[in-house]
Amino acid sequence: MNEFELIGRYFKRPTPSALLGVGDDAAIVRPTPGHDLHMSVDMLVEGRHFFADVAPRALGHKALAVNLSDLAAMGARPRWALLSLALPKADEAWVAEFAAGFLALAESHGVELIGGDTTCGPLTLSVTILGEAPAGQALRRAAAKAGDDIWVSGELGLGALSVRQRLGWLNVNDAELLAAARYKLEYPEPRLALGAVLLPLAHAAADVSDGLMADLGHILDESAVAAEVWADALPSHPALEARRGEFLACLAAGGDDYELVFTAAPAKRAAIEAAAAAPGCRVSRIGRIVAGKGARLLDSAGVEIKLDKDGYDHFG
Ligand code: ADP
Ligand code: MG
Repeated sequence: MNEFELIGRYFKRPTPSALLGVGDDAAIVRPTPGHDLHMSVDMLVEGRHFFADVAPRALGHKALAVNLSDLAAMGARPRWALLSLALPKADEAWVAEFAAGFLALAESHGVELIGGDTTCGPLTLSVTILGEAPAGQALRRAAAKAGDDIWVSGELGLGALSVRQRLGWLNVNDAELLAAARYKLEYPEPRLALGAVLLPLAHAAADVSDGLMADLGHILDESAVAAEVWADALPSHPALEARRGEFLACLAAGGDDYELVFTAAPAKRAAIEAAAAAPGCRVSRIGRIVAGKGARLLDSAGVEIKLDKDGYDHFG
């Protein structure tokens, strides 16, 4: 099977929301009047962003999910995707599974695959996503204000736990927890519905891909503010609750969460709880924005916890 047969069979799908989809030299779309176009691209490289033996279906899901997560963090609605693939060989079974994972997630969010590029090379994936939001509206990183609450969606730490267990840095024996962690790592669910309801309510937002403190740090830098984060308030899986001290590095700085961290005025607390309930998304208030620079993680006594890659120790 050659490149064009692979594309035709696995990636060419009806694209009713585009003027022109896969098959020409370029795709054509017409954004909804009164909307801004949001665009983002992400690259996944074998060995760096995923293990070499990951199931191709999971990889197809994740390649798009990490992209959709970026649009969720903008409060935008995703519409069109472009997919660039470097494949070591034309393995039809692999491509079929990869495409199934990618297209299932795309379809569940009304996203159409309108083009891409396919070439031979070390396994590398890049997805470009195009989405829309009403003109002038976006959850920008630069919009946090001193006095804002800091919130995070879902549960933290599971993706990182799965990676660290796999690398032999942790030794967790709970099979159910490990299965949940691996699922969260391989099939992250982008928080698009939450991002959309937050658009009129929140100030700043970012998606948590590199770890909560790191991604919150980007909001702080862009907004020229500081943050206090309460370690005890970080939402975790029920099976981690009793051992949250042991897993604090995963919760606060693990990465691979694909949750949203966002800030909003305290006056919006009830509205945020109500809005998040509609898509059934857990949201937790985990700290507040203050004047200054940098993020401090605090224990229940208000003492700063200093994280390092092996765990944490206390300051002061
Ligand atoms: P060109 O040589 O003009 O760049 P290509 O041969 O790369 O065109 O691609 C042919 C068509 O197939 C284009 O419309 C392109 O967008 C689409 N395409 C190529 N690879 C993919 C892919 N992995 N997923 C979706 N569409 C693809
Ligand atoms: Mg091309």
